[in-house]
Amino acid sequence: MKKFALAGNPNSGKTTLFNYLTGSTAHVGNWPGVTVDKKEGVYKKCPEPVNIIDLPGIYSLSPYTPEEIISRNYILDEKPDCVINIVDATNLERNLYLTTQLMEIDVPVVIALNMIDAVEKAGDAIDAEKLEKKTGLPVVKISALKGTGLDELMKRAYAASLKPRKAFTVLEGSSLIHLIGDCRIALEGQKVDNALFHAVKLVELDELEVKAHPDAARTVEEFKKTFKDDVFGNDFEAVVADGRYKYISANYSSALRRGSAKSKDKLTKSDRADRVLTHKVWGIPIFLVILFAVFHLTISENFLFIGAALPEGWVSLEGTAFEGVFGAGGINSPGVILFNLLDLATSSISDAVAGAMEAGNVAQWAQGLVVDGMLGGLFAILSFLPQILLLFLFFSILEDSGYMARVAFILDRIFRKFGLTGRAFMPMIMGFGCSVPAMINTRTLSDENERIATIRVIPFFSCGAKLPILTAIAGGIVMQFGIGNADLITYGMYVLGITVAIVTVILMRSTTMRGEVPPFIMELPAYHAPQFRNLMLHLWDKVKHFVKKAFTIILASTIVIWFISHFSWGWQYLSDEEINSSILAGLGQLVQPLFTPLGFGSQLGSWGWVFVVAAITGLIAKENVIATFGTLAACITSGFVADEALGGVDSVVQMIAATGITVPALIAFIAFNMTTIPCFAAVATAKAELPGKKSFNMTLVFWIVTSYLVAATVYTVGSWWWTVFIWLALWAAVITLIVLYNKGKLKFTVPAFLKGKK
Ligand code: GDP
Ligand code: MG
Repeated sequence: MKKFALAGNPNSGKTTLFNYLTGSTAHVGNWPGVTVDKKEGVYKKCPEPVNIIDLPGIYSLSPYTPEEIISRNYILDEKPDCVINIVDATNLERNLYLTTQLMEIDVPVVIALNMIDAVEKAGDAIDAEKLEKKTGLPVVKISALKGTGLDELMKRAYAASLKPRKAFTVLEGSSLIHLIGDCRIALEGQKVDNALFHAVKLVELDELEVKAHPDAARTVEEFKKTFKDDVFGNDFEAVVADGRYKYISANYSSALRRGSAKSKDKLTKSDRADRVLTHKVWGIPIFLVILFAVFHLTISENFLFIGAALPEGWVSLEGTAFEGVFGAGGINSPGVILFNLLDLATSSISDAVAGAMEAGNVAQWAQGLVVDGMLGGLFAILSFLPQILLLFLFFSILEDSGYMARVAFILDRIFRKFGLTGRAFMPMIMGFGCSVPAMINTRTLSDENERIATIRVIPFFSCGAKLPILTAIAGGIVMQFGIGNADLITYGMYVLGITVAIVTVILMRSTTMRGEVPPFIMELPAYHAPQFRNLMLHLWDKVKHFVKKAFTIILASTIVIWFISHFSWGWQYLSDEEINSSILAGLGQLVQPLFTPLGFGSQLGSWGWVFVVAAITGLIAKENVIATFGTLAACITSGFVADEALGGVDSVVQMIAATGITVPALIAFIAFNMTTIPCFAAVATAKAELPGKKSFNMTLVFWIVTSYLVAATVYTVGSWWWTVFIWLALWAAVITLIVLYNKGKLKFTVPAFLKGKK
């Protein structure tokens, strides 16, 4: 099969184009550095199927960052049949810099002038024919966003792939062209492929090339001694870069015709927005308010806080199934209305199933397994799908509009002082979706220690799977204790997670994970209206992922949980009332004392194991925490036996009522689940992405210690406010110890089992 590679600057629209061509749903984000690994898909509308490869975004083919190395090696070694060079037409000159390097490789290249819609909207125009003549490469105007020009692009790319192209360079007029020529001849003599490209890189004294061709490199070094440019001295890399830019502005730039006034106005609009949104003082409060609005829309049961102003019985659906769906005390937010509607549907399904099984005289244990175990667990978690999707929709809008990149920018300004770059915050923000891609995204960080520290704190950015834990428990607290708004609690927990992440990452960067703060020039992408298709793709992806997980891992886990909670060690079937003698209870009781300082251990008496086992099942998938409650809800209550599967919030209410757990303990439970070892998939990813066994082991220790300390702090301070002083003293002592240890004033040995092999 033919292979076409998509190459271009970060944020130029490669992934958008890739998704369009291949029907994939790869992540498109409005910030640089989202694609860190190559992705493949098939385009079917050419005379033969074509493999399309989405490469990481790059500004040049010099191997400075992992992205550049991946992209460069792909083009040189895999020899694609055509390189489609995506050029962001709103930023023509800078994007063509990469083009001038691609020209130096013996590979067919087609220029896709992307974002032509934005160019035209700004009142500008680009003369594609002129550019085509000047570059000698086919040029097609496209909009990956709108899907225009794509057939034409692929037709020309296919045509180009049928005949080989000879490399050429725009450096003909450069003072170094003779040296380049000499190197090229030398390399050709050694039968090196793409001699021109390698010759130019050799002249730039590119590290990889010098290593690969030491003889030719010596010639360059010799020449360097006698050479002196007026401006750049003998920095050949700068001389070459300058040569490219000069050529671009002399020959290519005229293809762009500015519509003057209008395009200038456009700039100031975005500038004006940035003046507010990235303001030194207001930037962070604005972010916090926006974040709160997101939770309010998703989770609030007192939408817009107008509950108090509503007349009693403002909506009269009393007696109908819809009672309470749209709100009781206040109006429900859209997220809660959707949740309630789905909850209605799922509970009538489980009622129907229970009724049918009862009527059919199915064995008692089988009824329990199906209704309580499987449906109870599944529905407890499934009912949160609308809220998860809504939250994702909002995050996608924030990201796609370009706002999230601003957040990274604001944070970069502050945290640079603590040895962190804004770059590290992009994977962290991605962690709100799922830790797995977020951890992979840390490959954009060049400093290894920054990367380790970032991977460690990514799980603290509460992912979609943890949302049910937050909402179900927050909802349970509101219903059972009548305090607070569920959205405020949830929001508070997200902010707690972010705070823990920031504090621990700063701590690591100033102690065990010290390192360089690489220069990071944050490029603010253009604001634009989020693309509907893109948003729907994101959501659809999420639905698929969620449903697949629900019917595999989560279902399997709930079945196991049901069995071990309904059978004794002697493999005897237990009735609901005997659940405390079950295998599950026994296992939980074994470890429950460990959780007493967190508020959900032995102090809950005979139910002390319940929250503990739920947290442990979360190590497989975080959805399991609430699914486990759903499975157990029918039995965890003295005397009361539910004959239907309960929804997520109801199960938690049931748990609270039966166990007598306190509010601080419930908050501590959320905090523990949010900061402890993430799900199995995230752990496996961390293992793959971390540089060695030792750093992986230390990461596990870090997660356990952090979650334990955070949850214990929350519980004790929440229960007895004065313990805050004890904690402050303790935390100060811990930090001092770490600092002393790092200064070498303190020595202790790391246990051998943690060390592993590097
Ligand atoms: P990549 O980093 O090169 O893979 O770029 P992405 O595909 O992630 O796109 C970056 C941003 O540019 C996203 O917000 C896209 O929605 C936006 N974008 C992509 N193509 C176009 C286009 O043709 N026109 C406009 N206006 N925006 C686009
Ligand atoms: Mg991309």
